Amino acid sequence: MTERVAGVRLAPYTTLGLGGAARAFVEAGSAEEIVELVAEADRAGEPVLVLGGGSNLVVSDEGFDGLVVRVASQGVEIDGDRVTAQAGEDWDSLVERVGAEGRSGVECLSGIPGLVGSTPIQNVGAYGQDVSQTIIAVRVYDRRSGEVRDLTARECGFAYRHSAFKEELGRHVVLAVTYELAGDALSGPIAYRELAVRLGVALGDRVPLARARAAVLELRAGKGMVLDAADPDTRSAGSFFTNPILTGGQAAELELRAPGFPRWDMPDGAVKVPAAWLIENAGFPKGYRRGPARISTKHTLAMTNPEMSASTEELLDLAREVRDGVFEKFGVTLVNEPVMVGTRL
Ligand SMILES: Cc1cc2nc3c(=O)[nH]c(=O)nc-3n(C[C@H](O)[C@H](O)[C@H](O)COP(=O)(O)OP(=O)(O)OC[C@H]3O[C@@H](n4cnc5c(N)ncnc54)[C@H](O)[C@@H]3O)c2cc1C
Repeated sequence: MTERVAGVRLAPYTTLGLGGAARAFVEAGSAEEIVELVAEADRAGEPVLVLGGGSNLVVSDEGFDGLVVRVASQGVEIDGDRVTAQAGEDWDSLVERVGAEGRSGVECLSGIPGLVGSTPIQNVGAYGQDVSQTIIAVRVYDRRSGEVRDLTARECGFAYRHSAFKEELGRHVVLAVTYELAGDALSGPIAYRELAVRLGVALGDRVPLARARAAVLELRAGKGMVLDAADPDTRSAGSFFTNPILTGGQAAELELRAPGFPRWDMPDGAVKVPAAWLIENAGFPKGYRRGPARISTKHTLAMTNPEMSASTEELLDLAREVRDGVFEKFGVTLVNEPVMVGTRL
């Protein structure tokens, strides 16, 4: 087992490049090691932070006063349409591999940073797909009961960028995820207008898997949403705010303040509003700067640390300014998508 190391700075382990030191840091190379390390820390009453690729984390300047367990378990098993990957597998490498093998269902999730084990946490999604459409089981270590369990997709409580794991963050440690990916040379029906336009097809059409992946990667790169050390706009945690979901009543109120605002009407009567539209129309254009922190020059939803010189608080000051400005103008409260460690928006 890898050794515990004291005082490791967490900034280099996050895509934002932010965060102070961990009291202790250890890398876990197998599911058994993850369970052993977490269980031991729990018995000792030591706080635990499970770390994947650090692409959805905002860690405080003070760091983490406990044990950081970095997930590094590897392995992919295939049984018919079922693909089971260990939590430490790189997500995009898995997407690329299953696409090349002619398995359909996650091609629109190409280029999303991070590890397999994190995908169920916020029900990772993009361009009309999310992992709730293909996950059939999640193997977890339940820190409350001390048991390893296989949860069904239903038990995961998936919703838009949300899951039961987020409700009780930290209780379940994901050890492996099983996806059901149909053997098919074509993508699922294209469900996202911008992607359909890029592909030159109609919504609902299907295209070869490799074409879908290439188009998604192109679109994402154009928005600074594929990690690239040479592109300062990618020093982010992806979308910082989720798209607000309003009740019918709240939507009617917003209509008074912003007649004709862009909206997606949902089957249950709720209304999803693009957070990027709210932010831009509250006076925060792409590239808007507050000290060393900046809104991405390519994507309004990404708060970035372009020169890697900001502190966590400086980045959060920018995010707070945006959140408060949107509330003042539209009466809508933006909620952060990344997980906050030792700090809050
Ligand atoms: C440039 C960029 C683009 C992005 N685009 C998208 C996008 O299109 N769609 C999208 O949904 N997200 C996107 N994201 C966000 C991010 O990539 C995803 O949320 C990803 O799943 C996070 O994975 P990670 O391994 O980096 O998780 P981390 O950031 O390491 O962790 C995130 C949370 O999950 C917990 N966690 C991690 N591993 C485990 C585990 N094994 N068991 C239990 N808990 C665990 C952590 O404790 C933390 O609470 C983007 C991020 C960046 C930087």
